[in-house]
Amino acid sequence: MKNLKKQDPQIYRAIKGELKRQQEGMEMIASENYVSEAVLEAMGTILTNKYSEGYPGKRYYGGQKYIDVIESLAIERAKKLFGADHANVQPLSGAPANMIAYSAVLKPGDKVLGMDLSHGGHLTHGHPVTLSAKVYNFVRYKTGKDGKIDYKELEKMALKEKPQLILAGFSAYTRQLDYKKFSAIAKKVGAITMIDIAHIAGLVAGKAIPNPVPYFDIVTTTTHKTLRGPRGGLILCKKKYAEAIDKAAFPGFQGGPHEHQVAAKAVCFGEALKPAFQKYATQVIKNAKVLETELKKHGFKIMFGGTENHMVLVNVFGSKGVSGKEAEAALDKIGITINKNMIPDDPRSPMDPSGVRIGVPAITTRGIKEKEVVKIAKWINQAIENYKDEKTLKAIHKEVIVLCKKFSVYKNLKY
Ligand SMILES: *Cc1c(COP(=O)(O)O)cnc(C)c1O
Repeated sequence: MKNLKKQDPQIYRAIKGELKRQQEGMEMIASENYVSEAVLEAMGTILTNKYSEGYPGKRYYGGQKYIDVIESLAIERAKKLFGADHANVQPLSGAPANMIAYSAVLKPGDKVLGMDLSHGGHLTHGHPVTLSAKVYNFVRYKTGKDGKIDYKELEKMALKEKPQLILAGFSAYTRQLDYKKFSAIAKKVGAITMIDIAHIAGLVAGKAIPNPVPYFDIVTTTTHKTLRGPRGGLILCKKKYAEAIDKAAFPGFQGGPHEHQVAAKAVCFGEALKPAFQKYATQVIKNAKVLETELKKHGFKIMFGGTENHMVLVNVFGSKGVSGKEAEAALDKIGITINKNMIPDDPRSPMDPSGVRIGVPAITTRGIKEKEVVKIAKWINQAIENYKDEKTLKAIHKEVIVLCKKFSVYKNLKY
């Protein structure tokens, strides 16, 4: 980065600082990961200069010889990776991918049945503060006492509300979804099915959990969470919806695609097609399970009856009398980054909820396995129990840094 260093030292220094932060911190935000250096290289290229509105073979501007190669490869790899009929690799991120998908198959005012935010759903699934909720009419289903989605209630709601779309998917839910049940309920009421696999795409691609693609009409995802690609979105769908999805992405919602990101997505899909990625995805699930078991031993209440994916939702307030905000701050001080999170029907406020969400995708990329997760769970407990004791927190932080240096990331990246 010698040009950047010389020309813009302020930005250069901040990037360098962020690299160090990522190297020396234990990243346990469930939606984050470390991309490969190959993905980084593809992103930082002259592809950013190109306008390529349209799709391979049918563009609005000239000069698409290489761009078409790149986008076609991204599409073919995405289809192969997920076993999909059709892939649109242009959505700029997860939130726009969802708006594109909604607008492809719904009219303003149409009804969508989606998962309640405090039960693990995502903002873009119709939370009142979002554009989606202003355009469409969302009704929300919840999880039952056993931590699973209450499918009986879901069916009752579907029969009563007659939604045009039934939406599955989440960002803070930890159990495996019953894809067949969603599909069967939708069939009964003539609804289109959509699943947002933003969080679990990497686990699906790595064959560590079942693939929802055969069961849903439309599948949206981000590419930067468990899938370990560049920030971006992806839409997969059945042939029947292919034209509607493509038109809704462009010209319906977006302008020119970001082909440097598309190239990096192609690299990410290529990586995910390799056997090593299946090993990674399997290890993610193993690590999350150990985290759950160990935190339980330390007296933490784990929501939804445990985890079957890459994260746990912990009721820290109900377990230790420490709020989600306080727990997040304590863990920050020991170099473990997580986020405070609502638990189902949380009696506390969104800015200071009862829970924290802890994920293992990023630490698993570092090479961390079960043995180290046991240690990390111990540190998490010590930090939360001693959240006011700066001396203890400082001592744990030192140990965290040692482990981070042992399981290093971007060792060869010289900024
Ligand atoms: C992260 C996430 C999104 C939003 O993705 P962005 O890239 O942040 O826009 C959408 N849906 C779900 C389920 C998510 O977890």
